[in-house]
Amino acid sequence: MKNDSKSTGTWIHRLAIRLFTVVLAVLIFWVLGFFVDDIRSIQGPDYATIEKQHLNPRLVEKRAALVRQIADLTRQTDNQSEKQRVVGDSSRNLQQTINQLLELQKLGVQMNVAFSETERANFTSSLNLFLDNQQKYQELSQNVSELLEQKQGLVREKEQTEQEIERQRQPAGEEFNRLHRRHQWKLASYQLAVLLPILVVAAIVIIKNRSSIYFPLFLAFGAAALVKVTFVVHEYFPSRYFKYILIGGLLIVVARLLIYFIRTIAFPNTQWLVKQYREAYERFLCPVCEYPIRTGPRRFLFWTRRTVNKIVVPSDHGDQEEKYTCPSCGTVLFEECPACHQVRHAMLPNCSHCGSEKAIN
Ligand SMILES: [Zn+2]
Ligand SMILES: [Zn+2]
Repeated sequence: MKNDSKSTGTWIHRLAIRLFTVVLAVLIFWVLGFFVDDIRSIQGPDYATIEKQHLNPRLVEKRAALVRQIADLTRQTDNQSEKQRVVGDSSRNLQQTINQLLELQKLGVQMNVAFSETERANFTSSLNLFLDNQQKYQELSQNVSELLEQKQGLVREKEQTEQEIERQRQPAGEEFNRLHRRHQWKLASYQLAVLLPILVVAAIVIIKNRSSIYFPLFLAFGAAALVKVTFVVHEYFPSRYFKYILIGGLLIVVARLLIYFIRTIAFPNTQWLVKQYREAYERFLCPVCEYPIRTGPRRFLFWTRRTVNKIVVPSDHGDQEEKYTCPSCGTVLFEECPACHQVRHAMLPNCSHCGSEKAIN
């Protein structure tokens, strides 16, 4: 008559339960991730603002002006160098021309041909142009070297300014680091303030509902919360601390498992079962399906595990005991005692009238 309350279902059902437990855990993990991400998006300290507070604005301006001046000088130098190059090219051309003219003259002298007036004029103008060019070239060289000297002076000045700025930047960096650390701590504590209560609730629910048929649900919830907390702790706490937190958590888990197995060996299964049955009888609930045991004065009432202590039981009905079978699952809950023929608890080891014992399994 007693149904098998621990029905395991077909393998496809068991597989589906496992699969959906994992899926549920992943979904819960996501939801927790949304909370954590929202907290993480809280604005932290801004380095640029802190730096501005520490740096002398005059120095920063000076550096900017120097950079501009140096760029300007570089442009000018490039310009002059370009001009110099053009002049140099032209000089080389002229030199070739003069050389050729000289060559012609030499030939002319050898062959006794006089240098014509135009040729002489050409030669003179080429020579003048060449000398002019040379002078221009020298001037340009002078300019370039002056510009370079000026530029080097400015670069030195800029380096000094930068060193000064760097010195001022150091306390800014320190302050930023301090503020950043504080901000990280704040984020970590906010996230843990959200996650840890969830984890504690999950742990309590898991421990309380170890034998519930909905256990996989709670397990998914707990596992997701635990993994999320681990991630957050790992992210914010240096591994030096994390090591201790992790080993502490593992110690607790292993100790609990050990205690569980020791107890399982020390108290055989039937004892756990009897304890469970006893608690159900105390609440007038079927030990198998939790349907209320509506017998005697409770015949017309209805209650659950939570409301059992709140309902008022009428006293005008006789409290004569009677045999009773759970209408929901068909488990016999009160039966006739074979020894004294009175009504006894069917799922507890001893008769409350004569004390005769029966095996519970
Ligand atoms: Zn039942
Ligand atoms: Zn009895």
